[in-house]
This record gives sequence, C-alpha cells and structure tokens, in this order.
Amino acid sequence: MFRPKHHWQPAEQQRHAVAGTLPTGRRHRDGESVDAFCERTVSTAGHTELDWLWPTCPDCLRAAERLNGIPS
Ligand SMILES: [Zn+2]
Repeated sequence: MFRPKHHWQPAEQQRHAVAGTLPTGRRHRDGESVDAFCERTVSTAGHTELDWLWPTCPDCLRAAERLNGIPS
C-alpha cells in the first residue's frame, strides 16, 4: 500500500507539502507555523472547502515527487 511520507496543507494561498503524517482526525491549528517542503515556514489556513482549491505549491510538489521516487 502506498504510504505518503507527507501531507498537504493549505497555507498562504497555496497547498504545501508538510513532512510526516497527521493521525486521523488531527489537524493543524489555524495559523500554526509549519515547515513546508519548499523550505518556507508557512502559516496554516482554515479548513474550509475553498482552501483546498488553492493551487499546489510547485516547489513542494517537486520535493514530494522526489521523496516518493516519482520522476518529474
Ligand atoms: Zn510549498
């Protein structure tokens, strides 16, 4: 089974990849600072449906692909 080593988190108008997995039901607090794969510390956004429509951070996507062995 595919187990990602990261999760996606809406923050600052983009969806960023964050290392590790969140236990089921757990989520970041609004405004929590998290270190994203793009080497930026981002402040997490709310958890409305709209936040998930933000574009994926391209730097995070590349880093996530590398981490999971997906050639880009
Ligand atoms: Zn990012």
